[in-house]
Amino acid sequence: LYNMVQDLKGNIRVYCRIRPSFRANTKSIMDFVGENGSLLILDPSKTLKDGRKHFQFNEVFGPTASQDEVFERTQPLIRSVMDGYNVCIFAYGQTGSGKTHTMSGPSGGTSKDMGINYLALNDLFQLSNQREDIIKYDILEIRSCNGDGLSLPDATLRSVKSTSDVLTLMKLGEVNRAVSSTAINNRSSRSHSVLTVHVHGKDTSRSTIHSCLHLVDLAGSERVDKSEVTGDRLKEAQFINKSLSCLGDVITALAQKNSHIPYRNSKLTLLLQDSLGGHAKTLMFAHVSPEADSFSETMSTLKFAQRVSTV
Ligand code: ADP
Ligand code: MG
Repeated sequence: LYNMVQDLKGNIRVYCRIRPSFRANTKSIMDFVGENGSLLILDPSKTLKDGRKHFQFNEVFGPTASQDEVFERTQPLIRSVMDGYNVCIFAYGQTGSGKTHTMSGPSGGTSKDMGINYLALNDLFQLSNQREDIIKYDILEIRSCNGDGLSLPDATLRSVKSTSDVLTLMKLGEVNRAVSSTAINNRSSRSHSVLTVHVHGKDTSRSTIHSCLHLVDLAGSERVDKSEVTGDRLKEAQFINKSLSCLGDVITALAQKNSHIPYRNSKLTLLLQDSLGGHAKTLMFAHVSPEADSFSETMSTLKFAQRVSTV
């Protein structure tokens, strides 16, 4: 484990996940999902030869990838929290691309196909039991929901003892998040949802660790004009887009090892400051929809993700 943790240190990883198409008989614009993180997509307005765009990520999960496969590739990163590293996992992408599916699971919150939030917590409890003799862990959870995108989330801090405690808290979070709707987006797509897990550990020699894991289901990244909102809602939508671009700026500045990291430019980055940079590990899931009419949003998601990963 130790060696693996060393390898993972201080890197920003980007995983791309393509959700299955909901429309029968439409050709996917994702032409090829490579084994080694490469992705080829086709511009539907161009010829086969001119419209090919290539991207390279750490991993690409195609439409048939299961929740367990995705979790398996994320597990070492999550486990490093128990060794004292701060970890931040984001789900980025346009509304409907599968962010909530990856983080929470299918809507309705049944116990089938549970997402990373649940699988991660479950894994941390298991690890804590396995290591019981050498280190005592306390796992505390802050369940927080950012309703309006303008204020810091209302947070609740609870000590959790088991995965069933976590499930109960997650259901509560879902309920809090589903509030009202706009023209094309429901309320949840206009807010960030952050699940923070604090881990305290004390070993037999009384040395201690304190680390945290942020699991973030970001607001939809689609452009504001599409949602046809006005007034306060428009302001809110612009604010959301600003916080997403601030997040990109922070990650870019970190990767370039700039002396100034613009954490203070958004509440989101301020909230996540401890888990971005330094010895923290960051993973971004770039979610894309396979349909041709999502091409331009897909391209902007992939470009954002590329910017985050290559600098
Ligand atoms: P987002 O949170 O990005 O707006 P959702 O996670 O709500 O998107 O996904 C939109 C719809 O697609 C949901 O009904 C969800 O269950 C479904 N979906 C998304 N990704 C997958 C997947 N990998 N496999 C099966 N269904 C998926
Ligand atoms: Mg969602």
